[in-house]
Amino acid sequence: MQTNIVTCTRACGQCTDDPQPSSRVPDAASEKVRGLCSGALVHMYNVSMFRPRCQYASCIVLRRSGMSNTKSSSVKSRCKTRQLPTYARVNGSSALRQDTLHIVVAGGGLGGLYLAICLMKKGFYVTVIERTAEYRNFGGPIQLASNGMSVLKATSRRLYESVQQNSRPFWGTKSGIKYGYTGDWMFTFDAITEIPKRMELPFAVCIDRSDLQYCLLNEIRSLNLEDSCGQTEIIMDATVTSYHQDSRTGKVRANLEHGTHVEGDVLIGADGIWSTVRSQMFDEQNGRGSKSTASYTGYKLFSSLPLYQTDDFFEIGYCAYIGPDNYFVTCPDRHGRIQWYAFVKSSPESDYVEDSKSFLLQKFERWTPEVRALLAQSENIDISQRDLWDRPPCLRSWSNGRVALLGDSCHATMPNIGQGSGLAFEDAFVLSNLLGEVKHPHDICGALNKYYAQRIWRTATIQGLGRMNSEAIKILTPLLPIKSLIDFVISPFLPLVFIAQFGYCYSFCPEKEAAVTSISSAARMNERHIEECMESWHQ
Ligand SMILES: Cc1cc2nc3c(=O)[nH]c(=O)nc-3n(C[C@H](O)[C@H](O)[C@H](O)COP(=O)(O)OP(=O)(O)OC[C@H]3O[C@@H](n4cnc5c(N)ncnc54)[C@H](O)[C@@H]3O)c2cc1C
Repeated sequence: MQTNIVTCTRACGQCTDDPQPSSRVPDAASEKVRGLCSGALVHMYNVSMFRPRCQYASCIVLRRSGMSNTKSSSVKSRCKTRQLPTYARVNGSSALRQDTLHIVVAGGGLGGLYLAICLMKKGFYVTVIERTAEYRNFGGPIQLASNGMSVLKATSRRLYESVQQNSRPFWGTKSGIKYGYTGDWMFTFDAITEIPKRMELPFAVCIDRSDLQYCLLNEIRSLNLEDSCGQTEIIMDATVTSYHQDSRTGKVRANLEHGTHVEGDVLIGADGIWSTVRSQMFDEQNGRGSKSTASYTGYKLFSSLPLYQTDDFFEIGYCAYIGPDNYFVTCPDRHGRIQWYAFVKSSPESDYVEDSKSFLLQKFERWTPEVRALLAQSENIDISQRDLWDRPPCLRSWSNGRVALLGDSCHATMPNIGQGSGLAFEDAFVLSNLLGEVKHPHDICGALNKYYAQRIWRTATIQGLGRMNSEAIKILTPLLPIKSLIDFVISPFLPLVFIAQFGYCYSFCPEKEAAVTSISSAARMNERHIEECMESWHQ
């Protein structure tokens, strides 16, 4: 029997697991979770089968693929206990349809989950289809910049506060670039804090990807309980393989592996850099290789997150060490850990490095002890590696009929600019507002086109800036031996470049925050952060 796991985040009042981030533990192996969402598709399911850390699920139900296609009708039947807002009510007019607009989202990553929240706020019914079988504690910290925080705050104060409670602030820290060999500062910039303070924006934070995912899933679960909102169902372990638009009915069908499908009024491809929805929309090869439309950045990325105490742990926001060929980025995280990324110049599709610790210790042999100590502190098993790809700006429309793209699927950005998730959140914010204005189903395509038109220039500019930073490092590194050139010509000039960059990135700000409020909440977050780190170091 083939199965699809459905992780239902509808809080049906009878599910008991409500774990906290960072203290999430798998349920007891023998524990059974009863599917409680009514209807024939719900069965008893032994949680231990998939070793799930099913921390986010209100309940987990098993769907037999032989039983039914995953049609919107069957999906809706499980929600019959709640009155969904009608399409007419959502839009405040007597619309033609009597049911809620059903939006299917391919990909339940950061962009897809946040989009679900925005759409629920507009009263829509959402189905998120996620390829992975479970949300795991995986992925180190990411920078959620002020624009991303501002968007979160504008959507839900509860979500915004929960993100703050699970992150550490950049406020009061120093970030910048150091010489890789000596560890001396080349220059520092305080734009991360200063610009938001001046523009009255929420401060940027550093949050573990899994904690951010937890916050988004928890918000979905809370919204599912509110009568004034739409509903979201998340289907796990389901891969979108293609889509089909039916011009007669106006419906879009997302075809899944194993021959099942989900049908809705709109399909959004939030399925990441290797998007299936994108490859069909643009009729292009999906994946790496010479025909790929993604571009290899020239670096293989190694990373790890060891527990490590340094004298300046609480003073550093993030720090990039640059040297010939390679660069190395560190970012102190919660619970006394430091995330490091080693960007090592390499050719595309280079071999997997078996003993990555020795490889890196050799690559960074002449580098400052600050870098080497972190490498020494990390174990092979904890070091991950991947080829780093991004995409050039895509000027072709990201919408086609009732299908559109969002996040990395249309504008994958170099991580060095710390904007990928912020941009995906902005997309979701704009897209949901435009769909919320739709008064007639015929207007959907127009709304999707408008979404592309509103987003293309900003996302293309930030993609360009990310690439420019990366290329600048490549140009800068051969000049490193000429220290006086760097110190007197380049270093004074670079902070201005960063002020301009941050200023532009942070300029999308639907919700402001008074500096005094930002500072006091950042101070509270810092206090908690220090306590957590001390506790971890002294355990
Ligand atoms: C090393 C690194 C560091 C980064 N640091 C930062 C940072 O500091 N700040 C920042 O803002 N951004 C950062 N980013 C970028 C950020 O992670 C992405 O921009 C962001 O996650 C994009 O969200 P997304 O939803 O578009 O894609 P993703 O988060 O990648 O989600 C895509 C989802 O779709 C699912 N999926 C894929 N294919 C299918 C399919 N066919 N069917 C169903 N599901 C599918 C995947 O399993 C995944 O869950 C970093 C990225 C990297 C690689």
